[in-house]
Amino acid sequence: MEDLNFRKGDAKTDVFGSDRMLQPSPIEKIPDGPTTPEVAYQMVKDETFAQTQPRLNLATFVTTYMDEYATKLMNEAININYIDETEYPRIAVMNGKCINIVANLWNSPEKDTWKTGALAIGSSEACMLGGVAAWLRWRKKRQAQGKPFDKPNFVISTGFQVVWEKFAQLWQIEMREVPLTLEKTTLDPEEALKMCDENTICIVPIQGVTWTGLNDDVEALDKALDAYNAKTGYDIPIHVDAASGGFILPFLYPEKKWDFRLKWVLSISVSGHKFGLVYPGLGWVCWKGKEYLPEEMSFSVNYLGANITQVGLNFSRPAAQILGQYYQFISLGFQGYKV
Ligand SMILES: *Cc1c(COP(=O)(O)O)cnc(C)c1O
Repeated sequence: MEDLNFRKGDAKTDVFGSDRMLQPSPIEKIPDGPTTPEVAYQMVKDETFAQTQPRLNLATFVTTYMDEYATKLMNEAININYIDETEYPRIAVMNGKCINIVANLWNSPEKDTWKTGALAIGSSEACMLGGVAAWLRWRKKRQAQGKPFDKPNFVISTGFQVVWEKFAQLWQIEMREVPLTLEKTTLDPEEALKMCDENTICIVPIQGVTWTGLNDDVEALDKALDAYNAKTGYDIPIHVDAASGGFILPFLYPEKKWDFRLKWVLSISVSGHKFGLVYPGLGWVCWKGKEYLPEEMSFSVNYLGANITQVGLNFSRPAAQILGQYYQFISLGFQGYKV
């Protein structure tokens, strides 16, 4: 018999020939004891070995490539929890700078040094925040008028992304869907207005419909809505779901009005991890001014060493994406995003 010990001390044998590797990977229970980092790494890595490489994933708009320096910056920040603003105050400032840059790309009229907006995990959280703000503004107004506020609705085309179904279900706000047809491939303003009433908290046009890439005509909607609001006495606003378009239109079609230049557009959301060109998960939402962000949505906690005021569904969240976004802004510049 050949001496089978000849490979003892060989790192490869220690990993692939280990007792732990002879067991199936855990499915239901945490293993009894520890194993070496090398073995654990190999087991976890191998579980995903057979799937596609992210860069071969052509079914997503989400970023699968950032350059070496961006990746380095993000990896170096992987252990930073954004919410701990007192420990990492420079990141809180960087977040504010990103919000300013995004708000200005969308032609925010806000004069304050720090524009009104929030960091999110993706467009989903950002859409929810925009939707909740619209709902709370509507509710407050209804309460003040002594009118019922138990049947809110919003209007969107059937091209909506699933987040709006979640928003409708989780907050119990009726979703009114304007059909898309071969003749009307984007949200038809007149059809949308037919679905509005005193209980409509907002209309949600989409910039970059997930399924078609088409843009709802926000300018036409804004114009029709202006006449409608004047006639009815309502003040139904617009939240633009610009998950993809928010980082495309400002660069490619800066003259196209879909953003805060329009009267009734009070909030806009975007995915930083789509055409913001940052690894997942990152989203942004901005309001036209701080008067449109209801105070009830800012939560103050005395925690982690100071008073923190925060807007968001999540509390703890990764900070690395903020460094990634700020890096991309600096590194690519306006021209870089354009090409
Ligand atoms: C992708 C997308 C969303 C959801 O965005 P996430 O960043 O994945 O949460 C919402 N709306 C539209 C139009 C989208 O394309």
